[in-house]
Amino acid sequence: AKARGRNGYRFYQPSMTGEGVERLRLETYLRRSIEKEEVFLNFQPQVEIDTGKLLGVEALVRWNHPELGLVPPNRFIPLAEDTGFINQLGQWVLVEACRQMVRWQEAGLVVPKIAVNLSAKQFERGSMVGTVAEILRETGLEPHRLQLEVTESVIMNTGDALAFINDLHAVGVSLAIDDFGTGYSSLAYLKQMPVQTLKIDRSFIKDISTDVNDEAIAIAIIQLGRSMNLSVIAEGVETEQQAAFLLRHGCNQAQGFYYSRPVMPDDLLQRWLP
Ligand code: C2E
Ligand code: CA
Ligand code: CA
Ligand code: CA
Repeated sequence: AKARGRNGYRFYQPSMTGEGVERLRLETYLRRSIEKEEVFLNFQPQVEIDTGKLLGVEALVRWNHPELGLVPPNRFIPLAEDTGFINQLGQWVLVEACRQMVRWQEAGLVVPKIAVNLSAKQFERGSMVGTVAEILRETGLEPHRLQLEVTESVIMNTGDALAFINDLHAVGVSLAIDDFGTGYSSLAYLKQMPVQTLKIDRSFIKDISTDVNDEAIAIAIIQLGRSMNLSVIAEGVETEQQAAFLLRHGCNQAQGFYYSRPVMPDDLLQRWLP
């Protein structure tokens, strides 16, 4: 089934055929998505709350299949992880994100930083740090402009996480802990790592002005970040009230629909780069 959404894209919805059949079909299509040039990146601004200044962007992958329409990442990323395709896809995303940054720079536009998501499978690969260094060299992007996002569960479940993160740090890229607060991280362990940023998970931001527990968690993460000398960004900020709450409690960085949805590079230019 397909429904035409905004932007003229059709959105993929699983059909009534068995899940297994559907999955197999999706897997077959996904495998060819890069060569068929069906994947592309959207970019979502990260904003300084009090000034509205652009601090960076997060790259988010999109897959538009001619028959299926736009398939949501929550559907194809897990599939890509299960099948191992995530290594190719992740590499494509990294290269494309770095290239886009260089294109912006060459056009005289300053996007200070780009954040790219890494899945567990990529993070665990021994060759990952080398790959990142090579991509930076080949595209010519300065390492400090690249931030990698990994979830805390990935860090906690990877045996050699500390070594990886130290190596990444040596290459000059920064690291953000994504969806912070939803996993179980050992603060003692975190403290040993050269991590720069905590990203407060959207689930805590959502009900910030109505749910006292969510408020308490958001405030605790902001204070934790401050005491560990980390920068803290809130994701999923949808309202002015949420932004004001964050600012009041010492968090001056946000990302979310209140500022912008993830957009194509040209749209980013129009709104954010005068
Ligand atoms: P994430 O890394 O937590 O990315 C943020 C997600 O929240 C994005 O969904 C974004 O569109 C959405 N979002 C941003 N602001 C708001 C908001 O104000 N309200 C709401 N309701 N949602 C907001 P998206 O693009 O569908 O991506 C979903 C997940 O798929 C990502 O979650 C990430 O885990 C994964 N993903 C996306 N692109 C990549 C990629 O290139 N590589 C990897 N490994 N994973 C990716
Ligand atoms: Ca992310
Ligand atoms: Ca996130
Ligand atoms: Ca999240």
